[in-house]
Amino acid sequence: MSDPVPTLFPAFLDLRDRPVLVVGGGSVARRKIAALLPTGAFVRVGAPDLDPEVAAMVAEGSVEHLHGRFDPAWLDGVWLVIAATDEPDTNRSVAEAAQARRIWANVVDDAPLCSFQVPARIERGPLQIAISSGGGAPMLARHLRERLETELDASLGTLGHLLVEHRRRIRARIPDTGARRRFFDAVMRSDIQSMLRRGDRASAEHALLALIDASTDVTAEGRVALVGAGPGDAGLLTLRGLRLLNEADVILHDRLVSAEVLDLARRDAERIEVGKEAGHHHVPQEQIHALMLEHARAGKRVVRLKGGDGFIFGRGGEELEFLRAHGIGYEVVPGITAALACAAYAGIPLTHRDHAQSVRFVTAHAKAEDDGLDWAGFAREQQTLAFYMGVSGLERVCARLIAHGRAASTPCALVENGSRAEQRVIVGTLDDLPALARRHDVQSPALLFVGEVAALAAQLHWFGAAPLGMPADITDGLSPQAHAHALAEAA
Ligand code: SAH
Repeated sequence: MSDPVPTLFPAFLDLRDRPVLVVGGGSVARRKIAALLPTGAFVRVGAPDLDPEVAAMVAEGSVEHLHGRFDPAWLDGVWLVIAATDEPDTNRSVAEAAQARRIWANVVDDAPLCSFQVPARIERGPLQIAISSGGGAPMLARHLRERLETELDASLGTLGHLLVEHRRRIRARIPDTGARRRFFDAVMRSDIQSMLRRGDRASAEHALLALIDASTDVTAEGRVALVGAGPGDAGLLTLRGLRLLNEADVILHDRLVSAEVLDLARRDAERIEVGKEAGHHHVPQEQIHALMLEHARAGKRVVRLKGGDGFIFGRGGEELEFLRAHGIGYEVVPGITAALACAAYAGIPLTHRDHAQSVRFVTAHAKAEDDGLDWAGFAREQQTLAFYMGVSGLERVCARLIAHGRAASTPCALVENGSRAEQRVIVGTLDDLPALARRHDVQSPALLFVGEVAALAAQLHWFGAAPLGMPADITDGLSPQAHAHALAEAA
């Protein structure tokens, strides 16, 4: 077991005119000094002998040389120290002496001795991106740096310089932060960056100034975007949903929306959980309406973020009717609804030439005997049923399907936490699934599939653990392939 990697606080240091000590005079020290000099730090290098390039820096006066072996007195007045010798004992003495004096120390390639880490870094003009693994996985940080290097083109640097140059004008003309953000979005949507890519700085600057002037009198108009967050796996969010989350001022989200998706939203967007769970109504619907209205009227960009898709058992329709009645602008971004995601992640094709020519999405929420649902229709074969909110109603749904004539041996599958790391799939038949669900203590959110296609999960599953509920004696301890084979044999 190695030591756990600490959580580090990222910071960018202003080292102008501050003494910084580098211990060591070889090539590693040279690279550290080269990285320090552009910051304007006052660099001292302590070593008995110097690499010729470092010696040249000393000769021209940009670096001070402390001659000899490390002496703790070298730390006097120093803000930061980097130990870059090839002698572990010397490096350790530097780290200990620095620790005693509360001076931040980095020991090259020895994370446990470091009180600060030097991240992998990408520079684009005034923009710096630093990546750290806390010293725990430097190769991974380096890999990410290489990828970002190729993805972030150089025009970002020139754009950064332009924005710095006109910073005062931007602040003076567009004092409101919300308006400034909209201005900035307009900059990113404009062709300023492609002008910069072509090297046409003059046109880019001209276009930027025009945008600054145009932004001055923009009055904020709030809008609401009804965005489907998908079932949990953040990879299933749409690109448009992601863009809106990055522009949002306020995010009103359900409990079903995963933390992974919320993490993608703009850092300083206000997040308000208005989650509803069957039985526990956290925030009443009227209050959700009132919150949307309040923030939209305040000129905010509101994202109403719902699990799955907002128009499938999500009350999205009611919310839009309300917004329309109050004259608030809106847009709708669909999401991957739980039935599609759970089917995909469990290996259950919802339609199949041999087994199902139609699929129905049903909510099994209503408790009453006379719930108005088409049970006789549900009992017909050659179709797949996807029941939302299936856990508490499971027994009743299975019993009613059997009572209306669907065969008790009809395959079904429950998918709990579909698409999430903790996903479980339980495969059974209409008559044994309720007992299996109890035995495995299935919890919400879970989705119930009924129909021949549900049995295909045994062979086609690919995500997470193999389905539960199938005869253990033939499947225990087998690989997924052998497991599917054994089941096919047994069938
Ligand atoms: N608008 C949502 C559905 C909301 S109703 C959508 O389009 O997906 C809530 C029900 O959806 C839950 O009770 C459950 O049956 C289902 N559900 C949502 N996310 C799920 C998930 N990750 N895994 C399994 N079922 C899920």
